[in-house]
Amino acid sequence: MKLSKSDYVLGLKCPNALWFKRFRKDLEPEVNQAVFDTGHVVGELACERFPGGTRITVKPWENESITQTQAAIDSDASAIFEAVLMTASGEFCAVDILRNNNDGTWDIIEVKSNTSPKEYHYLDISFQRYVCEMSGLKIKNCFIMTLNSAYVRRGELNLGGLFAMHDAHEGLQLRGTVETEIKRIRGFLAQPELGVAISKGKCNKFYDCQYKYHCWKDIPEYSVFDAFRGKTADEIYAEHGADLRKIPSELYAKGACRDIECFINDCEIANLGGLREFVSGLRYPLCFLDYETIGPAVPLFDNSRPYQALPFQFSLHIQRELGGALEHIEFLHDKQTDPRPDMILALIAACGTEGSIVVYNQGFEEGVNNKLAADFPEHADAIQAINNRMVDLLVPFKSRQLYRPRQNGSASIKETLPAFIPEMSYENLEIKQGTEASEQFMRFMTGKQAGEETSAMMANLREYCAQDTLAMVKLLDVIRGFTEQS
Ligand code: SF4
Repeated sequence: MKLSKSDYVLGLKCPNALWFKRFRKDLEPEVNQAVFDTGHVVGELACERFPGGTRITVKPWENESITQTQAAIDSDASAIFEAVLMTASGEFCAVDILRNNNDGTWDIIEVKSNTSPKEYHYLDISFQRYVCEMSGLKIKNCFIMTLNSAYVRRGELNLGGLFAMHDAHEGLQLRGTVETEIKRIRGFLAQPELGVAISKGKCNKFYDCQYKYHCWKDIPEYSVFDAFRGKTADEIYAEHGADLRKIPSELYAKGACRDIECFINDCEIANLGGLREFVSGLRYPLCFLDYETIGPAVPLFDNSRPYQALPFQFSLHIQRELGGALEHIEFLHDKQTDPRPDMILALIAACGTEGSIVVYNQGFEEGVNNKLAADFPEHADAIQAINNRMVDLLVPFKSRQLYRPRQNGSASIKETLPAFIPEMSYENLEIKQGTEASEQFMRFMTGKQAGEETSAMMANLREYCAQDTLAMVKLLDVIRGFTEQS
């Protein structure tokens, strides 16, 4: 039975995940195309750092890839991209870059689109080194090649600056450990069935686990996993199950006590004093502001870094006086150029100089603005003035001055909105999440989308972003409603 490097890493992260991948094709989730595309672009650029290298042209699972790799090794290629090797017992891997040291040894270079090495990258390389050595290659060094978060693009891409090499030697598993793990993985793959063992630590840390929808299908919408932190949640789950109604009340104090009590008693929290204080800090005209951003892994524009959040859209609802009519101003970049210069000008004009700028999760908008101010210093004062006027509507919800069980322990606007204004939902919108907005706009920016598809996307983006700021207006109305209670 063949065992790939991704099988190995998956098996170590969670046996269930590998077992599903192998035997439950019906559970196979959709590929995240955006993540796949990013990995592809980064991988291609990384290879350009090694000019003259030989590319294996067939897919790793085709036997021909091994023959091609051997031919490249025999011909003393300076580097081999996607080199495929396999042990006699079926462990195989495609090495991103196999670099020839011209002294009979080779280096393994694993390319990752992250900005720093992650724990599981070392498992990946440990397996590759094992397979290479068992196939007769002498491996001298192992590196993880990531994007360099400090790199700032100026003109043409400088690949030397874009990538950072990390010596992986210290973090590698010993050959004996890899052998033991392979045996263990092969052992559970031989079983006809595998009991599913979920845990908050594993399933959440394993952020990209695509089987959560299956393994967690019987977990209530609001459960011990929401109300307690990692290990505590796992311990309570092991003893009492996931249903908060079935856990002893003396355990509440170990977690989100007030949230749990609200849930159990189906009641809300409303701290009128705190809400009044929040409202008293607001100054008219109120500007309700929300951004959408893209974060290209490889900087598309000058003065930007890998994964820097670049705003391409804002929505601004303005209310000039208490109970006054709403005005709506929006900006949506519609060219395949750096959106920031036009956006800054539009933002400064729209926000004016008076009143509170109401945002939801200030850290995000403020952080984006700080970067804008640093990258476009000629506008720094005006941008800083906008930051100085910011008020965070998240605060009353996060600090539980206002809370309903329907929020399921979260203060995200996607949870507070249905809790307090159920008739206002994102469900009927084409774009329902900021990540979708970002992915769709990236397709436009990178030329993967044009024509009618783009017109429809632009309309959907406008609708989505406007919904966010309108939601803030309505949530503030809700808060005001509570403050008027005696
Ligand atoms: S959801 Fe959890 S238990 Fe299920 S496959 Fe993923 S990590 Fe494993």
